[in-house]
Amino acid sequence: MSTPRPLERGSRLVLASHNKGKLAEFAALLAPYGVTVVSAGELNLPEPDETATTFEGNARIKAEAAATATGLPALADDSGLCVSALGGAPGIYSARWAGPDKDFAGAMHRIELGIGEDEREAWFICVLCLAFPDGAVQCFEGRINGTIAPEPRGAEGHGYDPIFVPEGETRTFAEMSDSEKNAISHRARAFEAFQKTCLA
Ligand code: IMP
Repeated sequence: MSTPRPLERGSRLVLASHNKGKLAEFAALLAPYGVTVVSAGELNLPEPDETATTFEGNARIKAEAAATATGLPALADDSGLCVSALGGAPGIYSARWAGPDKDFAGAMHRIELGIGEDEREAWFICVLCLAFPDGAVQCFEGRINGTIAPEPRGAEGHGYDPIFVPEGETRTFAEMSDSEKNAISHRARAFEAFQKTCLA
């Protein structure tokens, strides 16, 4: 990693995502630091192929592509669910396991079928990368450990939330409110690390 470089108040940042929900979430998190956000989607930037084999590698690809295309600092994230008994899968393929139809019920079923009763260890990872147009990049990882529930439970959240029980809890992420999940999630932890180094 290069020397920590903070984002100054008044900076304009590109969020390397086409997801409107993520844009709103990051804009709200960054506003108190005087940083404004425009998304890769709004600028019609192409989405680069996520060809790396790690979360950090894919977050870097997205952040560097957006910084190079716009001349602005760019922030990207990559995240997913890792299941110990599946050798860390679905991992960076978490979105791809659900397919173009976003069939997370099917992807969760595949996980349940692939693990034994006593092999429920799992974790979520989120890596955030901040890339500058001159090539400097800083990455921050957040992780939450937990277990795979015996069957999906709860209606909140998204993706794999109904099968993930965070450490120290009996409820799945999908049985928790947004604010309860956001207090402990991998994404919140990655943002906290990013904030400590890059925001003042
Ligand atoms: P990304 O947006 O390319 O990083 O893809 C992340 C994928 O990982 C999502 O499509 C979800 O499948 C999964 N994922 C990441 N974070 C969470 C979470 O907090 N809850 C449930 N699923 C998640």
